Amino acid sequence: MKNRLLLVTCLLVSGAAVAQSVPRKPLPIIDVHVHAMKVNPNFAADMCPWFLKDMPGSDPNQPPPSFVNTDCVAPLKAAKSDAEMQTALVETMQRLNMTIIAYGDAQILRNWKKAAPGRVIAGIGISSPNDMSVKAFTDSLSSGFYEVMGEVAPQYQGLSPSDMSLDGYFAAAEKLNIPVGIHMGTGGNGMANLTQPKYRASLGRPFLLEDVLARHPKMKIWVMHAGYPMLDEMIALMGANAYVYVDLAGFIWSYPQAEIHAYLKRLVQAGFGKRILYGTDFMVWPKLFETSIGLIENADYLSFDQKRDILFNNAVRFFRLDASKYK
Ligand SMILES: [Zn+2]
Repeated sequence: MKNRLLLVTCLLVSGAAVAQSVPRKPLPIIDVHVHAMKVNPNFAADMCPWFLKDMPGSDPNQPPPSFVNTDCVAPLKAAKSDAEMQTALVETMQRLNMTIIAYGDAQILRNWKKAAPGRVIAGIGISSPNDMSVKAFTDSLSSGFYEVMGEVAPQYQGLSPSDMSLDGYFAAAEKLNIPVGIHMGTGGNGMANLTQPKYRASLGRPFLLEDVLARHPKMKIWVMHAGYPMLDEMIALMGANAYVYVDLAGFIWSYPQAEIHAYLKRLVQAGFGKRILYGTDFMVWPKLFETSIGLIENADYLSFDQKRDILFNNAVRFFRLDASKYK
């Protein structure tokens, strides 16, 4: 009896040791806003998150302000080559149990999909009729490679999202049941001076979506950057249009944390916790994923369930995914 007890104890102990040695898979995360781009080592600067805590006074006779700030103790390192980027991205996706919706360079997207099967959903964006014809766009969507239309960013081209020159593209997405992500709101400090002279802050107003939504009642859109900082219009638009979601990309790591939390808290407080998607606007800094996830994890005004909605459940619902494939 004593021996048998000893054996049972040994089995229990070794069972516990085995259970401890197998790391638990983290709960799944979906990042709905990732840019797939070729790395240009000359432009891939390191970056200090939440750098827009002061908007420096500038003068047009001086060199323009830089897009990011590198002046902090531990800036996020930029990847210096496509290979370094891909290795870091794949490792991060596996470790964090993360799936991404990514837009940009077609070859990079193909490489990422191959390197991380099942973790990359490809999107194709259009921002003006000069990008490609409606026919070429429809053919691309019909190929099956692209499952999302994004990032659509007419604001940078000086166009409203409801401009009729874009209507054929939205009609194609609506017909093919493809979700659409549209850039509305912030584009970074001094964007109109830096690289995008056609950018207009006023063309990021969420109300500008009302006409295109009315013309395409079956189209499912999400407002990228949550229309920051036009919160009242964003809330009014979502109140009037039950299928519109938002993502938190870009401002989640660039504006001061108190400002991000105030915006996010108000969206949740207004009742839209089920329509907020987690997204980063990832470009070249592999550690940006953890930095951005940390902001959600540290939001003490959100319950565990509300965090899970933002990080995963809302994206599953919005993109009509099969949750069982993402355990
Ligand atoms: Zn954007």
